[in-house]
Amino acid sequence: MCGITGYIGTEPAGEIVHQGLKNLEYRGYDSAGIALTSDTLSIHKTEGEVDELPVPSRDDVDCGIGHTRWSTHGEPTTENAHPHTDCTGDIAVVHNGIIENYDELKASLRATHVFESETDTEVIPHLIEDHLADDISLRSAVQRTTEQLEGSYAIAVTAAGHDGVVVAREDSPLLLGHSDDATYIGSDATAFIEHTNRVTYLESGDLAKLTADTITIYNDGEPVTRDTETLDWDADAAGKSGYEHYMLKEIHEQPRALRQAISGRVDDLSTSVDLDVDLPAEYLQSVEEIQIIACGTSYHAGLYAADLLEEHADVRTSVEIASEYDFTGGRDPWRTLVVAITQSGETADTLSALREAERAGARTLALTNTLGSTVTREADDTVFIRAGPEIGVAATKTFVSQVATATLLAVYLGQVRNTLSTETASELLSGVRDLPGAVQQILDQENAIKKTAQEYAGSDAFFYIGRRSGYPVALESALKLKEISYDHAEGFPSGELKHGPLALVTPDTPVIALLTAGTAPKKTLNNVKEVKSRGAPVIGVSSNPETTSHVDTTFDVPNCGPMEPVVANVALQLFAYYVADEKDRPIDKPRNLAKSVTVE
Ligand code: GLU
Repeated sequence: MCGITGYIGTEPAGEIVHQGLKNLEYRGYDSAGIALTSDTLSIHKTEGEVDELPVPSRDDVDCGIGHTRWSTHGEPTTENAHPHTDCTGDIAVVHNGIIENYDELKASLRATHVFESETDTEVIPHLIEDHLADDISLRSAVQRTTEQLEGSYAIAVTAAGHDGVVVAREDSPLLLGHSDDATYIGSDATAFIEHTNRVTYLESGDLAKLTADTITIYNDGEPVTRDTETLDWDADAAGKSGYEHYMLKEIHEQPRALRQAISGRVDDLSTSVDLDVDLPAEYLQSVEEIQIIACGTSYHAGLYAADLLEEHADVRTSVEIASEYDFTGGRDPWRTLVVAITQSGETADTLSALREAERAGARTLALTNTLGSTVTREADDTVFIRAGPEIGVAATKTFVSQVATATLLAVYLGQVRNTLSTETASELLSGVRDLPGAVQQILDQENAIKKTAQEYAGSDAFFYIGRRSGYPVALESALKLKEISYDHAEGFPSGELKHGPLALVTPDTPVIALLTAGTAPKKTLNNVKEVKSRGAPVIGVSSNPETTSHVDTTFDVPNCGPMEPVVANVALQLFAYYVADEKDRPIDKPRNLAKSVTVE
């Protein structure tokens, strides 16, 4: 979980590594640290934020590694913060992930080594220390050490008197950046994107020896070559561009993100979709069932997608929370297509469910935002949502891009399987093409939404109700509010309210009702009456002026047919944002949450 960065070059490393940690802050973390090496090693750590870590001032050192930690073993204290060192204090290690056999390893090392922390990580520098005693290179010592480790890790190792840095990964992500006179290390490209967009993604099992001008990559002890790619993300894309929070910037980026999701995949004249799907058409025709696996916001996108797939591709589709997933296929497991939705492509729960499906013989398709991520390498095929980097912990633009891309997937499968009429395809695609403009119309109502949010910010709790595609949007909108405002918020299918949650409704619990096309608004209006007669104020999110008289406040959604609920979601993202802003919450980094959840 969290972040690794590093620099080996010709400039003082302290400042560059420190900035790399700042860039990685968005991933969520609880403590941070830096190691700088030359003939000696210096370690700088904090149990707080990167800003509390002074920029190391050793101008003579051009090699360093840094870490933002999201604790899994041991409290977030300075002692447990990375880098961790060996008994000599000459070897420094940063690690993302979990060493599953650390207890055994620690037990065997204890007789001859002194441990300073409670982390699983600390066994690594001590193991390396033992191997270096055999007078072998740092690379060989790290190689031998990785052979002893079980679990998931990305590590970077540097040692006094040894040139450069050795990195290795198993499951957890790690990539290298290349400029003319330096090599950069990052858990993702945001770590160093202001210096270079030329990158090499390391594969699971890779170990690399890095100096400023040479990179040698090994797998299983043998040299291997990995491609270098040029990313089209620039430093500006990863900055806040003048918005107060990344989340607000990303809410405003949605029209662009949606255009990117659609671009080149549908054109204005035809009704066909090109998603670059490699799974053969004959296979897609023979699929009997689709199982979607996902967590959090991606799970809500999955619920939205499931209805579309079932209806338009005529295939039974279920959605499972990835951490609860158990593969249940028929006699021909390969006839089940498992679709894994994960923004980061590194979500541990989703990857573990994907692996289970693959072991059982199902075919798999990933829907992700992240090029080169683990899910793209492990799934049989990948469709990218192309939302660009999302820094705010609360997902916004990736949700709408997931839904838009899933809609294209439903049309594509419907066409391949011959289950979708040209009229319906054309209606769905025109809804998707209208999305960027419709979302812009919501953004234009920002001030009115902000005023309503400020008015209701002191409420006891918030309830979101919706039917059909309004239900996943109710869940997602409630999740957004609770993540960033810390208020109690729940989403319900509108009809369920009277079966229990109605007991919670009071004049201090606003109810937000999804009343657009695709949400059976007439039926939900009955539920609106139920809550109004108990005194609750109601905000309607609606594309139909007739509903206005039934609610206290309306957020207007432009007409765009089947895509209206996802447009309604944008209004509710702004609502959540401004409730949280009114309460002065740390919107981009809500307490206890991390952007990319890489532990199960
Ligand atoms: N398991 C390690 C620890 O608790 C690393 C956590 C991380 O990935 O940040 O220190």
